[in-house]
Parts: sequence; C-alpha cells; structure tokens
Amino acid sequence: MIIEKNKVVYMHYTLKDSDGETIDSSAGGEPLPFIQGLGNIIPGLEKELEGKKVGDKVTAVIPAEQGYGEVSDTLVQLIPLASFPDKDQVVMNATFQLQTPEGPVTATVKSIDGDDVKLDFNHPLAGVELHFDVEVTEVREPTEEETAHGHVHVHHSCSSC
Ligand SMILES: [Zn+2]
Repeated sequence: MIIEKNKVVYMHYTLKDSDGETIDSSAGGEPLPFIQGLGNIIPGLEKELEGKKVGDKVTAVIPAEQGYGEVSDTLVQLIPLASFPDKDQVVMNATFQLQTPEGPVTATVKSIDGDDVKLDFNHPLAGVELHFDVEVTEVREPTEEETAHGHVHVHHSCSSC
C-alpha cells in the first residue's frame, strides 16, 4: 500500500534546522501518525511522502513557505502589561497559550518596555527551513471513525472527543 490521500501513515522522523540542530524527533518514542492529504502535517512534507511505502526513507528540505510559513510582522503586537492576569509570568521569551477563533495559538514575549509588552504570534518555526529525515513504518486504511474525525486514533482512542 502506498501513501496517498486519506491513508493513515505512521512515521519516525527527525527534524533539524539548516544548522543541523535537532528541533524535534520521534526517536526513542512512538512513531507519529497522521492522515495523508488532510493537513495533519505540513504541506511540504505531505508532498514528499506521496507515493511512498513502508520502509521507505525520505530526506527532505522544506522551505519555510511550505512549512510553518514566513515570519509576519503583523503577527507581532503590543499588548499592555495591565491586560495580563499574572504580571509575574511576563518575562522575556515566556510563552502564552491564547484562544482564537482559529484555535489555540502560542505567543512569545519578545520585549517588555514599561507597560508595552511585545508579543510574537508567529509559529516558533515560522521562517525556518525544515530538514526532515523520515522513515515510513506503517500505511493503512483509516477506520470510519478516523475518516469522520479527520485524524488518527492512537490505540483506538480519540484525543479530541
Ligand atoms: Zn477523533
């Protein structure tokens, strides 16, 4: 069975930046499951994995625009310190989870100047060229429930319902 739209795929992966620093890896843990073609993973990696099968190893360099996007200045915003419930938590590089209509986003504190807190809503990997080493460990049909939910159920349980 090959990887194509709506197939469930399990992969081991190591993600590095262009300096060779490891950003993330499944090594030593469970392989990462996703459904191909549904945007569970970044578009550039879906494209590289299309047509591959179990045991295939893929090395891919994915530019930021096919990964987590370019850094956008409009996603850096000044927020008054007074609007934070716990001001002691507002320190350089602290991260905050915020709810938006599009789902949760993470913001990082970039600077603090008096009452002005500069928050960066860009994805932490925005603007980063992604270097993937992937090994495909399993490809299977999705269950009806997985198709309905649009994501993989690990050990037959759903993470979001
Ligand atoms: Zn589910």
